[in-house]
Amino acid sequence: MDKDYYNILGVARTATADEIKKAYRKLAMQYHPDRNPGDQEAEEKFKVAAEAYEVLRDIEKRKIYDRYGAEGLRNSGYSGPGNFEDIFSSFGDIFGDLFGFSGAGNRRRSQGPIPGNDLRYDLTVSFLDAVHGVEKEIEINKRDTCWTCEGSGIRPGHKNKTCAYCQGAGQVTRSQGFFSIRTPCPECQGQGEIITDPCNECHGAGLITKKKKVSLKIPAGVDTGARMRLRGEGEGGRKGGPSGDLYVIIHVESHNFFQRDGDLIYCELPLSMTQAALGCKLDVPTIHGKKNLKIPKGTQPGQTFRLPGEGVPSLRGQGKGDMVVEVKVVIPKKLSKRQEELLQEFVSLESADDEHHSEGFFKKLFSGNLGA
Ligand SMILES: [Zn+2]
Ligand SMILES: [Zn+2]
Repeated sequence: MDKDYYNILGVARTATADEIKKAYRKLAMQYHPDRNPGDQEAEEKFKVAAEAYEVLRDIEKRKIYDRYGAEGLRNSGYSGPGNFEDIFSSFGDIFGDLFGFSGAGNRRRSQGPIPGNDLRYDLTVSFLDAVHGVEKEIEINKRDTCWTCEGSGIRPGHKNKTCAYCQGAGQVTRSQGFFSIRTPCPECQGQGEIITDPCNECHGAGLITKKKKVSLKIPAGVDTGARMRLRGEGEGGRKGGPSGDLYVIIHVESHNFFQRDGDLIYCELPLSMTQAALGCKLDVPTIHGKKNLKIPKGTQPGQTFRLPGEGVPSLRGQGKGDMVVEVKVVIPKKLSKRQEELLQEFVSLESADDEHHSEGFFKKLFSGNLGA
């Protein structure tokens, strides 16, 4: 069953962005894990409300949801806000004025490992490389874990000093009306400790910018928009956290002769009028090489021929698509005197019952008598 996001937030389908935000704030306050410790039901409601809000606050997502429902959203690649960390990091602005920073601060161990960010790299590949697959080496500039301090930011052999202002808690609490608000410690920026001897290499950041070469195997049959995930090739982690992932987004260049639709290859084949009328045998370029094609007598402009198995290999393993060749008849712009004589002779021999060339066709056309 699809979730009804409007119902979950208790707003009308026509609700404005402001109404949606207000409704979500109310629910988030009611079911916030800080106010319902250990309450599974509240936790579930809190998550579902966040999911509904994340969709309805976003004009694009809301449009997709309105038209195709939650199923349509999943098909477009949206998988929901995920765990608490994600909810707090996405909607920090809302929790900001409700709970100070406490929502995230409570759960995020400020001294704990910090995973690296995911990175995106846009890679353009040629039409034929995409069809046949290719190995590429890319060079990325990324912030990677500092090898000197192993991402801690501390000069090796030294220790951090516990923050005197917050006694290492990383947060300070103050009361504001009904709530008691916890905010990150202004002294140590929520770290709970102060680096007195920063690492020489990264100046305490734990990360340094590095160039890194990454090789990747692009499978045969990829198309524009394909996304490859390289685990651990993203930004480096800090304080023992794992590296992020690298997402490579493929863009395929167009080709002068071939066009592609999924695993189908399409091309136009220019033929002279005599080749089309008399028939011929010729070599057609395909993405796999040349292929002999027999053009039968009386081939018409726009007529198509299908070459099975001459298309793009399937990304999911077995089989190849087909190739479709569309005939384009080219009429000569210049004729020699002799050629013209022969064509004139041809006209005089043209059968009178070929109605496209006979006067009968035009008579019918102008009398509006071409039939149903
Ligand atoms: Zn502090
Ligand atoms: Zn360092």
